[in-house]
Amino acid sequence: MKRIIAPKGTKDIFPPEIAKWHYLEEKLRDYFPRFMYKEIRTPIFEHIELFQRGIGTETEVVQKEMYTFKDKANRDLTLRPENTASVVRAAIENDLFNRVYPLRFFYIGPMFRYDKPQKGRFRQFHQFGVEVFGDESAQVDAEVIYSSYDFLKEINVRDIQLHLNSVGCENCRPNFLKHLRTESEKRMKELCVDCQKKIYTNPLRIFDCKNLKCIEISNDFPKIIDYLCKECGTHFEEVKEALSIFKIKFNLNPRLVRGLDYYTKTAFEITSSQLGAQDALLGGGRYNNLIKELGGADISGMGFAAGIERIILQLDDVKHKKDKMIFIAYQSLPLMNKAIQLAKSLWDKGYCVYVDYNLKNLKKQLKKANKIGIDYTFIIGEDEIVNESISIKSMKNYEQITIKQEELDKWLINNI
Ligand SMILES: [Zn+2]
Ligand SMILES: [Zn+2]
Repeated sequence: MKRIIAPKGTKDIFPPEIAKWHYLEEKLRDYFPRFMYKEIRTPIFEHIELFQRGIGTETEVVQKEMYTFKDKANRDLTLRPENTASVVRAAIENDLFNRVYPLRFFYIGPMFRYDKPQKGRFRQFHQFGVEVFGDESAQVDAEVIYSSYDFLKEINVRDIQLHLNSVGCENCRPNFLKHLRTESEKRMKELCVDCQKKIYTNPLRIFDCKNLKCIEISNDFPKIIDYLCKECGTHFEEVKEALSIFKIKFNLNPRLVRGLDYYTKTAFEITSSQLGAQDALLGGGRYNNLIKELGGADISGMGFAAGIERIILQLDDVKHKKDKMIFIAYQSLPLMNKAIQLAKSLWDKGYCVYVDYNLKNLKKQLKKANKIGIDYTFIIGEDEIVNESISIKSMKNYEQITIKQEELDKWLINNI
């Protein structure tokens, strides 16, 4: 029979990699609530209109990458390609803007994009992120940036760089776009076919092009920070000042743009030099017009989204206490119940313990312990019962010691 394999661009996650996922999930559930974020979970599919309006019909994501399908009642539904639009939708629909304070949410979960699969990039991929609503201060921008940067450091992602830019607002961006269009028209013939189209649909997106020639040409194009209005200019200065209070360094990156009208002011990205020319580990910014755009009140937004697969690639192997495995072996069948008692007391204390109820022979049990990759085997034999002791065999170097039962807790703390 033909084997069934997982769809292209998806992957199974299992040991030992799953330990890194647990580690990241535990850390982020511990870390972000410090900043008053509360977790929100939204559905994996939504009406297609949410993303058309929330991301924009002109974007690559909406035009080419969405998983959209009709359900049995002929509705157009889409597997979420990102989570911000859904969080905003949920907040509007459930009236959270009037009920939950402060308006801060974090999320984690799978997203879906029909993209070309490559290293660290999947069609079902996972993101975590935060959203802050109703706070227009430059300082909150800096706080969001700081928390994302500091979190990556806390989980030991090395060699990270922060890139910062401002994308202006509806008052100053049109003037910039006019100049950008004029300049890009002048060099139109040198740009790739895609970028030629972007000149008329969304010239900001030219900065996203990965084509080396396009990058070289667009480096000469006008920079948005030279066109900021007074309000956006002041905001940007204040963000930079607040970042210096948080003591994090940044690179000003004029290519960092968000090609959508509701993105405003601060934009940032964090990259890792270990990923090479790969995409960012996370990116975010301010979106003061999205909530209004989706039918909500005129409330500002600020947040980021992080790619979990890419971060996982950067993580060292995770070891924590539960990863050390104990095998309890018994010398003869009558001692199996003693082994169960000992196992129970260890499970109660939270240790990771395995007893084999089928192999009655001690040698076979030890062989099995080896096969599973056990760290320590506790052996219960006649002598141990008489002496109220436990023999402990390290399965790494096969050294064996015997300790008194009352010394076991101490031994566990020192060795597990
Ligand atoms: Zn402005
Ligand atoms: Zn191009």
